[in-house]
Formats: sequence, structure tokens, C-alpha cells
Amino acid sequence: MMAFEQIPRKDWYSILGADPFTSVSDLKEKYQKLILMYHPDKQSADVPAGAVEECIQKFIEIDQAWKILGNEQTKKEYDLQRHEDDLRNIGPVDARICLEDMSWNKDDCSYFLSCRCGGKYSVSKDEAKDVNLISCDTCSLVIELLHST
Ligand SMILES: [Zn+2]
Repeated sequence: MMAFEQIPRKDWYSILGADPFTSVSDLKEKYQKLILMYHPDKQSADVPAGAVEECIQKFIEIDQAWKILGNEQTKKEYDLQRHEDDLRNIGPVDARICLEDMSWNKDDCSYFLSCRCGGKYSVSKDEAKDVNLISCDTCSLVIELLHST
């Protein structure tokens, strides 16, 4: 049996004409503007069927984007996922390490590890439990953080 193909994730931010730094209130404003613009009831009767179909698709996408980004929990999950996708795109995983392998920096409450380029991998104490990939602050290498269960 073939493995299920993963549904390609969409960039919900760009669907709303926003980016990850857009505030929730701005996201809401953009959503409200777009959802009105693409609302099936708002389309004039003389547009070709293909355009109507496209409009409905867009409407569904916008609605979906807001369902994810308008909810604190799902937005957080999505942001984390994006963050990891970004890291995967940056570079190869150089090493797999446990938190215990990293050094503790009590000044800023973070764990760190020296990269072989001379740069540094670091993760804050709060983030450490959610983060799986850490990128070097100097080169494109990434380390994978293994969580003990
Ligand atoms: Zn490095």
C-alpha cells in the first residue's frame, strides 16, 4: 500500500495578503475585506462560470486561512510548523542532540551549542520543549533536538 501523500500546506498568511508579523487585529481586518470581496453573493451575474468557480475556491481558502490564523492555538501550531519548514529549507541537519548535550547559559536562560563553523546554536528554555530544529546563527547548518520521552 502506498503511503498517503501529504496535502501541500498553504501559505495562509499570503492568502490573507499578510505575513507572519501581521497582528491578529490586522489579519482580521484583511480577512473581513477579502471575504466580502469574494463572497459568492457579491458576484455579479454576468461573470463567466470559470471565474465564479475560482471565486468560490478563493472564498473557501480565505475562510480556511482565518479559521487557522484567527485562533490562538491553531495559529501557534501553524507558526511552529512554518518555522520548522523554514529551517528544513535552510540547510542539512548536522547533528542530532539531546538538550543535555547543550550548555546552559544562565544569563539569558537558554541552551547553546557551538557549531563547527564557530557560530552558535541556541534555544531559549521556554522554546526548548517545542522546538525540534535549531539553526546556526552563522552558517546554514541545522541541528535536530531530540526530546526524551
Ligand atoms: Zn554554523
